Amino acid sequence: MYIHIPWCVKKCPYCDFNSHNSPTELPESKYVDALIADLEQALPLIWGRSIRTIFIGGGTPSLFSPEAINKILQSVRSLTRLSPLAEITIEANPGTVDNEHIAGYHKIGVNRISFGVQSFNDKHLNALGRIHDSSAAINAITKAKKYFSQINLDIIYGLPNQTFNELKEDINKAISFDTTHLSFYNLTIEPNTEFNKNPPKNLPDNDLCYQMQDLIVSNLSNIGYSRYEVSAYAKDDNFCNHNLNYWQFGDYLGIGAGAHSKLSFHDKIIRQVRQKHPKSYMDAVATNKHIIENKTVTKDELPFEFMLNALRLNSGFATTLFVERTGLPLGTILKQLEMARQKGFLSLKDGKILPTIKGQDFLNDLLLLFLS
Ligand code: SF4
Repeated sequence: MYIHIPWCVKKCPYCDFNSHNSPTELPESKYVDALIADLEQALPLIWGRSIRTIFIGGGTPSLFSPEAINKILQSVRSLTRLSPLAEITIEANPGTVDNEHIAGYHKIGVNRISFGVQSFNDKHLNALGRIHDSSAAINAITKAKKYFSQINLDIIYGLPNQTFNELKEDINKAISFDTTHLSFYNLTIEPNTEFNKNPPKNLPDNDLCYQMQDLIVSNLSNIGYSRYEVSAYAKDDNFCNHNLNYWQFGDYLGIGAGAHSKLSFHDKIIRQVRQKHPKSYMDAVATNKHIIENKTVTKDELPFEFMLNALRLNSGFATTLFVERTGLPLGTILKQLEMARQKGFLSLKDGKILPTIKGQDFLNDLLLLFLS
């Protein structure tokens, strides 16, 4: 289950998520009620299923008090079959959490925390429009280490004017906390962002970004972080199970403003999108009009959708997973698989299909082969 909290203190110029500047008074309790009503209305779609992961994302979920998050989790527990071993993650902005927040989230059963650190260099944090500096990030992570055994740090590289050495410093600082999980994203300029309107100057070119990525992979693998997805690195198999489910084309229910769902039934797979704007969403939930898109994925779309996710995984996927998750026979994609193999994008090993290094580097070309 994905739960979206749509507000941030201030919109970052590179961000294309469904996040909105927080009003002076956050309608926390009204939004929590809307989430619970949303969940109640979605129940017929998830009868009998158990929930193995919850990801509270945003926006900035750490703007919400532990009491508000607890009310949401209590409702999930009473309305659904939430596994007692469920991974429950909250995303936190280092600029919005104090000790009480961190201890409070832990106390109510959140067992994984993901910090949007982005960099430990104040010059770069400033250029990214972040509301926190490096010392706030260091404090937040240090506090979280007392309560959480599962911690992720998000870092962005390929920043304006970023040098190779500055990235090395970010890597060294990130690994010094010995967290279970790290995510390194290459900065991309997305449409509908401030950076798209006013592009930052002196972005590292593609060659430098490739070198930066190599530096990240080699530094992290040297100390036991395995790269299991394009941007994700885990120590001792402490994968993000919530994201792993997306990449394995599993089902998920998303509640909250702009949340997406993908749910499989015996005869179809549906995708849903909810109202994006927080106010429209809260108003619409009251009349059960908050789902603005509800479509059945056609058989033609399924191979591409599956590959779009599964080929992000370094270990690839078992051929049986394709059949299980799409309901299609493997024969549907044999021609494309052979083409991809001939181009050196894929290899087949022990009943698994794996992207090669070339396939990972040219992921878009590889995916195009599966576009109907
Ligand atoms: S804090 Fe995160 S979600 Fe909010 S605007 Fe910045 S990048 Fe986007």
